[in-house]
Formats: sequence, C-alpha cells, structure tokens
Amino acid sequence: MSKYLIANWKMNLPPEGVESYLANIGGADPRDVTMVVAPPYPFLRHVVECGGVSVAAQNCSDQPSGAFTGEVSPSMLRECGADSVILGHSERRNLFHETDAVIARKLALAITTGLRPILCIGEDLRVRDTGGVSRFLADQLKTAAIDTLEDAPEIIIAYEPIWAIGTGRVASGTLVAETLVEIRNALARFWPSRFAKAPILYGGSVTPDNVADLVEHGTIDGFLVGGASLDARKFLAIHAGMR
Ligand code: PEP
Repeated sequence: MSKYLIANWKMNLPPEGVESYLANIGGADPRDVTMVVAPPYPFLRHVVECGGVSVAAQNCSDQPSGAFTGEVSPSMLRECGADSVILGHSERRNLFHETDAVIARKLALAITTGLRPILCIGEDLRVRDTGGVSRFLADQLKTAAIDTLEDAPEIIIAYEPIWAIGTGRVASGTLVAETLVEIRNALARFWPSRFAKAPILYGGSVTPDNVADLVEHGTIDGFLVGGASLDARKFLAIHAGMR
C-alpha cells in the first residue's frame, strides 16, 4: 500500500521560498511514499506548475457555486490542478465552527468532483482523559459515512488528536497504534468494506525526532505534518524516517 507524507502549510509559506522548498523535497527518492503539499489557495497553481509533488487544498466549500463570498469550490480546486483536499481539520472544526454535517457535505462534493479527500478526525484532551476516544472517533467516522463514499477511488484518513496539533506534545507510537486499531474497527462497522485498508495517517507535532517512535509499530500509513513541514530539511528527515 502506498504511504503518504503531507505538508500542511496552513496560512504560511516556507521561509526558504516556495520554489527552493519544492526543488529540495523533489530531490528525495520517493520510495513508496507519495509526497503531498497543501499550500494556501493562491499558491496552488504555482505548486502544481513547479511539479514533483501531489497537491492538496486545505479546505473547500460545501457548495458547487454561487453567492458564497470568500469560498472556493472543489471544481475550482481541480481547475488549479489540486488532486486532493484536506477536510475536517481541527482548526476548521474549532476556529471556523465546521460541524460533522458540514464536513460530510464537503466530503460528498469533493468525491463528486474527483478530489481525493484527506479526512481529519481526532479527539480533544477532555475526551482522551475521560476515556471516550473510541466512541468519539467512531461517531466522527459514522457521520462521514455518506452514500457516495463508494464512488471515491481512495479516501485518506488522518488521525490528528487535537491536543497534539501545534502543541509540541506528540502522541506516543503505542498510543497511536492502539487508536488506529479503534479507527479500523469503526471503519469496518460504518464504512463500505473496501475501505478496510484505507490509508490512516497520523498528525500532531511530528518532527524528525519523534518519527522513529511513531513508525515503530508499523501500523501508520504516513503523516500529516504542520509546523515541521515548512522546513524542507525537516520534512525530508521525516520522509527518511518513514522506513
Ligand atoms: C496539522 O496541521 O495537521 C498538524 C498536524 O500540525 P503540527 O504538525 O504543527 O502539529
């Protein structure tokens, strides 16, 4: 199965410059890892034109067109050359109040448009501390189990515990491996059977220093990286650690 390493630049650009960054990471031997870069919207086409990586948008509208000021539709993203879209990132859920229902609509539209969804799920610290993780993640996957899932050639799941995103507090390899078992169980219960082997990535303060612990259990299919992805050397070191 292919693995994925996704750079989520959020509302940032690599300090070394977009072209230099892409030239640097483009030099890596991909092995079986697909490198994906998710830049802010205005830089999508430029990243596509520089080549060498798969390109994802960080978000999309849940509407195909119309009077929705400030929104960008999935078909516009396709037009720019994006092949994937991150959906349900916790910053979208928490800062922009996206509900499971909104995310399910975005998922449906992304699938219809031919964008590969990268669906983020993950619990906050309260849920983690009170032992409700399994149920919480299962509920998130259940609400995303829309009728048109079957039409998607592939959906990537990104397990991103909110308490680990941008906090420097990384989940241990053991915790992630245990949680991925729960996620696979929920996929088996609520999603069509062909998603039993859907790629499941981890995201949350991944750096070159913790990647070895995270991959040790052999169950993670890649990483969604925020902060450390802005530095091509760090991103490459994470890639090198994905043995
Ligand atoms: C993210 O933005 O999805 C993320 C995981 O960020 P960070 O790596 O900075 O925690």
